[in-house]
Amino acid sequence: MTTGEGAGSVTCDTCPHACKLGPGRVGRCRARGWQDGTVAPLSYGRITSIALDPVEKKPLARWRPGGWLVSVGSYGCNLSCPFCQNHQIAQAGADDVPWRTVLPEELVGITLDARARNQQRVEGIAHTYNEPLVAWEYVRDTGVLAHEAGLANVLVSNGCAQPHVIDALAPLVDAANVDLKGFTSDYYRWCGGDLDTVKASIKRLAAEPTCHLEVTTLIVPQRNDDPHAMEDLARWLGSIDPNITLHVTRYFPRWRMSGGNPTPVTTVHELADVARGELAHVVVGNC
Ligand code: SF4
Repeated sequence: MTTGEGAGSVTCDTCPHACKLGPGRVGRCRARGWQDGTVAPLSYGRITSIALDPVEKKPLARWRPGGWLVSVGSYGCNLSCPFCQNHQIAQAGADDVPWRTVLPEELVGITLDARARNQQRVEGIAHTYNEPLVAWEYVRDTGVLAHEAGLANVLVSNGCAQPHVIDALAPLVDAANVDLKGFTSDYYRWCGGDLDTVKASIKRLAAEPTCHLEVTTLIVPQRNDDPHAMEDLARWLGSIDPNITLHVTRYFPRWRMSGGNPTPVTTVHELADVARGELAHVVVGNC
């Protein structure tokens, strides 16, 4: 999982940033850091948000409709999209936000309690709000226990993680929504991510027989609202499986882009129509 670099520094192999970390340092995501000569998921089990959300809010349009998920998030993210819609926790570290430790056993217990109170409509656990893969070991450990308890696991992610991370989680994930933020390397560079890595994650999850996959593209005006790029994106997704649901969603100004206007509703609908040329299930969001 980690590589010694000499002089006490180690390299994180969770995402393409490959942060080199010396003693006391945390990575670009603020969630992983140096600990006793190795890279550790310091945010493991540190929960900043927990809520009972409808499945549709993740968003998942074609998986167990009407169900509910105990949804948890921590802090940190390996991307830095200037328009981050969850920046209060995603662009934060351990000292910036209140959190409490909820270890996997406790989270499964909370979810079973919620199911008992809600007459079986609680399907399981969703890892969401910040970027779950920066502490992917928590998703893995909770996922194993959740399956043993008859609960489902849902992952809402930017998908920007190395293949060994996705390989470890894919058999445990029953449903995923992965952001495909745009379809150019420049756009991903602007967001601090890597398009090819995300495409590989989407292909891997789509190939997992027990994983239901949906994809979300947030449309930011004058940044990724080119119909030709949307056509390329949808065609590529359709080449994997034309039945993958694509959510084309409306952006609202946030964080470093808090000025400006939301995406025009007409733009979202026009781009969704473009995508429908390649995909059977395209839904608009936030409109
Ligand atoms: S997961 Fe975090 S610490 Fe690891 S390489 Fe990515 S940004 Fe750096």
